[in-house]
Amino acid sequence: MALGTASTRTDHAPTIRELLASGERSYSFEFAAPRSEKGERTLWNAIRRIEAVAPTFVSVTYGAGGSSREGTVRATERIATDTTLTPVAHLTAVNHSVAELRNVIGQYADVGIRNMLALRGDPPGDPMGEWVRHPQGVRYAAELVRLIKESGDFCVGVAAFPEMHPRSTDWETDVRHFVTKCRAGADFAITQMFFHAEDYLRLRDRVAAAGCDTPIIPEIMPVTNVRQIERFAQLSNATFPSDLAERILAVQGDAAAVRSVGIEYATRLCARLMAEEIPGLHFITLNHSTATLEIYENLGLHQRS
Ligand code: FAD
Repeated sequence: MALGTASTRTDHAPTIRELLASGERSYSFEFAAPRSEKGERTLWNAIRRIEAVAPTFVSVTYGAGGSSREGTVRATERIATDTTLTPVAHLTAVNHSVAELRNVIGQYADVGIRNMLALRGDPPGDPMGEWVRHPQGVRYAAELVRLIKESGDFCVGVAAFPEMHPRSTDWETDVRHFVTKCRAGADFAITQMFFHAEDYLRLRDRVAAAGCDTPIIPEIMPVTNVRQIERFAQLSNATFPSDLAERILAVQGDAAAVRSVGIEYATRLCARLMAEEIPGLHFITLNHSTATLEIYENLGLHQRS
């Protein structure tokens, strides 16, 4: 029997694919898997505040391993059962056999989750270390997309990289692999964070030129403190804009001023993107909702709810 047949209230909610096909823009928020009880409380505080603005969907990142994975599954399931929000469940191939992947997909399906983000993931510990698939697992995200699609009636998203995936050697190959992932059945994509609208627009145009029309949702992360300048570049390979770094460093002794520079920059980036035909915006919250909600309000989006 195919998974995903559990009868719950989310059975009738439109999928992200259906919402995007209706021409509606999607506004969504990403949370990180909690690692402690305190972290869980912070997460739920943020989720409840985000719930009040009725976003299109929310998602919780899939941990590199161990208890953070249980935290992801638990938080995503609770969003499905205890809130009015639509969850998109992240799932990665790292250290999972196909049987284990099917099991997690089944757990998500049992609580009525219909939207998933299929990711290959990175080697635990060193994201740029050698990628070795689980001996009974999958090698690339495209295979995970197929596995999820075979498991039931799911809407599946994938990752996209406005500055090219860090392991890709050239754009042509990078776009070809992205398109393969879409042709494997992906319904939408969400990008890695980026700081220059042109990077997103170039990727979108390259993918369109390759004959692929999968909607690509840009991901936005506001800088709210000085430490993030270095951390962002390490984590995402995104080129940190020198003008933004200079403006932040000029006020680095004043936490409120740093935050306000970061929020203003992110607001302008979103406004520039919204002037284009984008399918929506996806905000990284780091489990603190205030900065992203401020951007949301600056863009006039809170009036949607
Ligand atoms: P893939 O699409 O498999 O691509 C990985 C690399 O392999 C690319 O260089 C690609 O070009 C290449 N490739 C693909 N197919 C082939 C092929 N057939 N032959 C040769 N090369 C190929 N990580 C987590 O651990 N947890 C998360 O929750 C998480 N959430 C994310 C959310 C978003 C929106 C994004 C953008 C990333 C997220 N990541 C997460 C990070 C992601 O797992 C890593 O960036 C990972 O390195 C790439 O994953 P992918 O799904 O794009 O992999």
